[in-house]
Amino acid sequence: SAALTHSIEEHRICVCVRKRPVNKKELAAKELDVITIPSKDVVMVHEPKQKVDLTRFLENQTFRFDYAFDDSSTNEMVYRFTARPLVETIFERGMATCFAYGQTGSGKTHTMGGDFSGKNQDCSKGIYALAARDVFLMLKKPNYKKLELQVYATFFEIYSGKVFDLLNRKAKLRVLEDGKQQVQVVGLQEREVRCTEDVLKLIEVGNSCRTSGQTSANAHSSRSHAVFQIILRRKGKMHGKFSLIDLAGNERGADTSSADRQTRLEGAEINKSLLALKECIRALGRNQAHTPFRASKLTQVLRDSFIGENSRTCMIATISPGMASCENTLNTLRYANR
Ligand code: ADP
Ligand code: MG
Repeated sequence: SAALTHSIEEHRICVCVRKRPVNKKELAAKELDVITIPSKDVVMVHEPKQKVDLTRFLENQTFRFDYAFDDSSTNEMVYRFTARPLVETIFERGMATCFAYGQTGSGKTHTMGGDFSGKNQDCSKGIYALAARDVFLMLKKPNYKKLELQVYATFFEIYSGKVFDLLNRKAKLRVLEDGKQQVQVVGLQEREVRCTEDVLKLIEVGNSCRTSGQTSANAHSSRSHAVFQIILRRKGKMHGKFSLIDLAGNERGADTSSADRQTRLEGAEINKSLLALKECIRALGRNQAHTPFRASKLTQVLRDSFIGENSRTCMIATISPGMASCENTLNTLRYANR
């Protein structure tokens, strides 16, 4: 029935929005903050418009999500309502995914990987680390302790439709699909981790690998998806997997008209993967028989997370408060709304 379908969807997919604080640059430019969060699940965009007679007015648009976090929220709070409930899923033999989606500069990496601005590099506060911490706490519970689970981590990047191992000096990896539609990233390093500290070290290795040789950390990361996975194994066999993904910036629309061929191709690839992702998440919510995972490399490598009885996902749509970001913010909210 419709009611049942709805409850499955609600159970399997959580979509929330996080607004970042106004930054120094926006403050200096006296940029208007156009976002308000009037209640814990509502986001309003107040877009200044001009009438024909040149009087100004605000056009308000309202969006509702599972949760809306304002600029006073911490990573820990966002984590508690998004990824935290999914840690349980992987202990119950399930597949979990958590995405950060949004414009470059809106706070995806801050939310997922921790703070990497300036000298203040601390990855222990991001969702990757918080999820790892809780995995190790959960392992100690009697119910799970007796399963004798082992924990592994992978960290890779998808750039222009190609996969690179961030734990192995950016080795380029092939993605193979066998006859049974099992997708495999050939040679991907899976490192055993025994405590949160181990995980933090891997995140650091991966993060420095991600940006090495780049003139600007953000220029590169805005064009690639970073996938961090925590895998539980029992006697070598996969028990559960949590994929945490810092997606490429969604503002690439403009690139598709760029004069530079490489930039244009990258933009098109990013658009394609974000569209495919939306369709796969929708299919998961509807319990649909067909999941269009082949439409992009991103959705292909995440295939096993979109199918299966016990798959759950959450999306954290990050938004910038400033007037100059309005168009991108509306695009982000519309995408997340779908
Ligand atoms: P993205 O990964 O989406 O491009 P970043 O995470 O790099 O964006 O964030 C851009 C800048 O804004 C960084 O300097 C980051 O530290 C800061 N920032 C983002 N979100 C927050 C937040 N919620 N609180 C404080 N600073 C933030
Ligand atoms: Mg980033």
